Amino acid sequence: MIKLQDYIPIVGQQVVDDLRLLADKLKGRVIQNINSTSVGGGVAEILNRMVPLLQELSIDARWDVIKGGEQFFEVTKKFHNALHGLQEKMNKSDFDIFLETSQKNIEEMNIYGDIIFIHDPQPVALIKNKKDNKWIWRCHVDVSNPDQKVWKFLKNFVVKYDAAVFSAPSFSQRLPIRQFLISPSIDPLSDKNKELPEDVISEVLKKYGITNDKPIVTQISRFDRLKDPLGVITAYRQVKKSIDCQLILAGGGAKDDPEGVKVFEEVTERAKEDKDIHILLLPQNDIEVNALQRASTVIIQKSLKEGFGLTVTEALWKAKPVVASHVGGIPLQIRHKYSGLLCHSVDGAAFALKQLLNSPGYAKKLGENGREHVKNNFLLTRHLKEYILLFLSLYYKDDVVYL
Ligand code: UDP
Repeated sequence: MIKLQDYIPIVGQQVVDDLRLLADKLKGRVIQNINSTSVGGGVAEILNRMVPLLQELSIDARWDVIKGGEQFFEVTKKFHNALHGLQEKMNKSDFDIFLETSQKNIEEMNIYGDIIFIHDPQPVALIKNKKDNKWIWRCHVDVSNPDQKVWKFLKNFVVKYDAAVFSAPSFSQRLPIRQFLISPSIDPLSDKNKELPEDVISEVLKKYGITNDKPIVTQISRFDRLKDPLGVITAYRQVKKSIDCQLILAGGGAKDDPEGVKVFEEVTERAKEDKDIHILLLPQNDIEVNALQRASTVIIQKSLKEGFGLTVTEALWKAKPVVASHVGGIPLQIRHKYSGLLCHSVDGAAFALKQLLNSPGYAKKLGENGREHVKNNFLLTRHLKEYILLFLSLYYKDDVVYL
């Protein structure tokens, strides 16, 4: 069981002391987190670590998941794509399905928190249950250029919240409620990010039949078109013409992402007959993800759209050289040619990969800078502090304290 004090060697005593001091003011308050899946994707990743640490700080944090059938998650996936600016054909029946499942959750979910912390669009309509408690909508999606029909529909719910939280300044929207900018984080001590002995890394490679006799380029992501796995294969093929390397495309599914199976099949089809492309359908296993990231020579994240891109944060923390698209929250993490290489196309990705594979010294330097940047900005302790301040701020209004 990881304790707060275990973070002291990484972030220093002061950071942990500050957390204890601030959390004291929220002692006993119930923070009810609600999202749409307990496994898969960045939100579940963060809540898994955030909730126990808030509890250690004597804040009564809990986590509930809404219920939804296949049709509901198909609709919310369309919402997700549309909010990212993709052209999705939305019908009246899509909105009806969303409202119907939302109504069931509104009737059946036990809302008991002092603060209800709603993550992403899927549970947004629960706000109908608002009483005299505080409600926050936490948007993990890049909504800088959303499809207006979908955004207007969701906005009707969002405006009823006490506050909204976005991951980056460019994502914020014109809203009549308070807005906060808080970027996500990773937990340096979790199984996903902790140091691993070499034999654990080799075991995982062995399990998947991968030898490390040539450089490994890896993208870890759900099989989602927005992660552009086919673009990664095309970029790899360009690199392969001059550098003998191998590619790992690894990911599991998320319960709230019904497109995964289809995309996985497309990717497998595109990769066939190249023994150096490893398409891995991963079980939910953080050590395996950690090992694959650590075994890699270069990490790629060629997303077409991205919320924040925790896989980039995870790779940088491991001091890996990263090639990633200039989308969503990725430029907050990578300063081009300083803490990684940003790309804007398949050709750009191939060029950057070649550059890093051909210049190990340069690649190493970028990785080291990346790790330092994550240490200073994207670790869980900073995130915890900002959430606690956010919770506290809900009780402050017009200079009057409602604690
Ligand atoms: N992840 C995982 N197993 C997988 C694929 C992804 O554990 O097979 C994790 C990944 O390590 C990261 C999160 O899921 O922590 C994905 O977050 P990100 O922000 O990169 O993308 P999202 O899936 O939320 O769009």
